[in-house]
Amino acid sequence: MEIDFSKSGGLVPVIIQDEQTLEVLMLGYMNEEALAITTSNRKVTFFSRTKNRLWTKGEESGNFLFVKSIRHDCDNDTLLIQVNPVGPTCHTGSRSCFNTDYNQNFLFQLENIIADRYENPVEGSYINKLRHKGLNKIAQKVGEEGVETVIAALAETEHDLINEASDLVFHLMVLLREKNLDLKTIAGNLEARHR
Ligand code: AMP
Ligand code: ZN
Ligand code: ZN
Ligand code: ZN
Repeated sequence: MEIDFSKSGGLVPVIIQDEQTLEVLMLGYMNEEALAITTSNRKVTFFSRTKNRLWTKGEESGNFLFVKSIRHDCDNDTLLIQVNPVGPTCHTGSRSCFNTDYNQNFLFQLENIIADRYENPVEGSYINKLRHKGLNKIAQKVGEEGVETVIAALAETEHDLINEASDLVFHLMVLLREKNLDLKTIAGNLEARHR
């Protein structure tokens, strides 16, 4: 697809999104050369309007943005690049230039971590220990954490409820993984019920 560089003096805006967390990390601009370099190096290179030159994000700090996918919008004049950031993207040290202080997508990230432990077991990993104990034990844990969540909701503090609900969601995610299911399937099912 040909990108239309004609609208803003040879530059197109580029939205940088974290592939894992889906956070918007920053917005920059690319000219045709910056896009070509980014595509071939798989590291994001902008055309910096401030520096008035090609700028590989991370060239001084080492906080490179490794390209996972490049998409364009409906009329080919804006790019959306999903990246794997090496470190904080903002020069202030924040993860995102838009200062999101928490990661709204962490549940999906945690699901990826669980899947990764299944594929690449890690010495001492709780997930791997659970898996080793088998389906019955994992299912039983979900039941226990469910009961603990109920007790915390009825009799204990908000702090306890947050912790027990966290235990429940975590163990449910491990159970789903054990049964080769995922949150996307559950979300899709809930969405279908909502319609
Ligand atoms: P870096 O490319 O990360 O090595 O940073 C080099 C310089 O680019 C920094 O000293 C800042 O002046 C600038 N810079 C870095 N990150 C950003 C950003 N996210 N937005 C705007 N300017 C930045
Ligand atoms: Zn557009
Ligand atoms: Zn910034
Ligand atoms: Zn618990």
